[in-house]
Amino acid sequence: MHVDDIPQAQAAAIEVVGLTKLYGVGKPAVDSINLRIASGSYCCLLGPSGCGKSTTLRMIAGHESVTSGDVLLENRNITNLPAAERGTAMMFQSFALFPHLSALDNVAFSLKMKGVSRDERHKKGLDLLERVAMGHLAQRKPAELSGGQQQRVALARALITQPKALLLDEPLSALDPLLRIQMRAELRRWQKELGLTFIHVTHSQEEAMALADTMVVMNNGLIEQTGSPHTIYNRPANEFVARFMGGHNVIDLPTGKVGVRTDKTYVSHADSAESTGLPMVPAIVTDVEYQGNYVLLGLQHPGTTRSANATADLSVMLSEGQFAREPFSVGEAVQVTWTPQSAHPLSA
Ligand code: ADP
Ligand code: MG
Repeated sequence: MHVDDIPQAQAAAIEVVGLTKLYGVGKPAVDSINLRIASGSYCCLLGPSGCGKSTTLRMIAGHESVTSGDVLLENRNITNLPAAERGTAMMFQSFALFPHLSALDNVAFSLKMKGVSRDERHKKGLDLLERVAMGHLAQRKPAELSGGQQQRVALARALITQPKALLLDEPLSALDPLLRIQMRAELRRWQKELGLTFIHVTHSQEEAMALADTMVVMNNGLIEQTGSPHTIYNRPANEFVARFMGGHNVIDLPTGKVGVRTDKTYVSHADSAESTGLPMVPAIVTDVEYQGNYVLLGLQHPGTTRSANATADLSVMLSEGQFAREPFSVGEAVQVTWTPQSAHPLSA
C-alpha cells in the first residue's frame, strides 16, 4: 500500500475543551476535560474501567451527546454535528464485523446506507480492501478470515468514509494475548502509513505504552496526566499515575511522597546496611517471587500489617544473578534505598 493512494485522507488535530458528560444526576462521567491531540499522532486514552474513556471517545465520535464543552476537529467545532458528518470513524472491540456479510459488503456497508449504487460501492470497497492487502479475500465471510485479516477488513470499513481521525474503543481487548500483540503492531504500522490521527481507548498500560505517541491517563472522569509513554512512565505526575502504571514504588517521606522505579530501588540486609548518605527506609520482606529473568521482592514497612489480598507496600527487582549472590528470605529485615536522581516528587 502507498500513502499516496489514499484519496483525500488528511489527518486532523482534535481538541476537546471543557468536555463534560453527566448521565442523570451525581458525579459527571467526564468532568470538564481539556485535551489537544496533534494531527497525525497516535493517542491512547488509558485508565481503569469506568473512568470515562469510552464516554470521551463517543462524544468525540458523535455517538454520545455532550453535556457541556466542545469538540474541535482542525479548529472546526463539530460538537453538534451528526457522527457521519464529523470526519471521524469508529473501530469497535473485536472489530464488530457483520458475520453474515462478505468482507466486501462489510467495507461497503456505510456507502449502502448512504444510498450509493451497488457497482460504485463495490468498486470503492474493493479498492480499499486492496489497499489493506485483502482484495483477494473480498468474498469471504468474517468467520472465514483470521483475526489479522478481520482487523484489516474493519480498518478498510472505517476508512471508506475517508475520515481524518480514527477512533478505536478497546479494539484488541477481546483477542488472545499473542494475536493482540501482533494486531497492535499492525495498527501502529497502519497509523504511520496512513498518517491519520488515531485515538485508541485501552485499559492496558502495556498496550498504551507500545502504541502511543501521546498517552492520556484518566481517572474518575478527569485527566491525571498527558504525555509521551516515556514521560508518563518515568515521571508519573502523582500517586495515582505511579500506581496505575506500575513498576514504581510510592515512598512516603517526611517531605512528601516520591516515586522510584522498582528497578531503581535497592535492598540490603538490615544488619549489613552501611550508611551511604543515600535515603533509606527500613522494611520487612513479605514475598519472594521468581519471575524468570528476575526475582521480585515484596516488602512491608515495619509495624504495619497488610490484609491478605493487599499488594506489598514496596517491591524491588533483583536480577537472578544478584539474588543468587545475595538471597533474601521472607520475614527478613532489610533497608531500602535509591539514588536521589531516580526519585521524583508526586503531587497529591
Ligand atoms: P470506561 O470506558 O473508562 O470504562 P465509560 O466511559 O464507559 O468508562 O463510563 C464512565 C462512567 O459513566 C461509568 O461510571 C459508567 O457506569 C457511566 N456510564 C457509561 N455509559 C452510561 C450510560 N449510557 N448511562 C449511564 N451511565 C453510563
Ligand atoms: Mg470503555
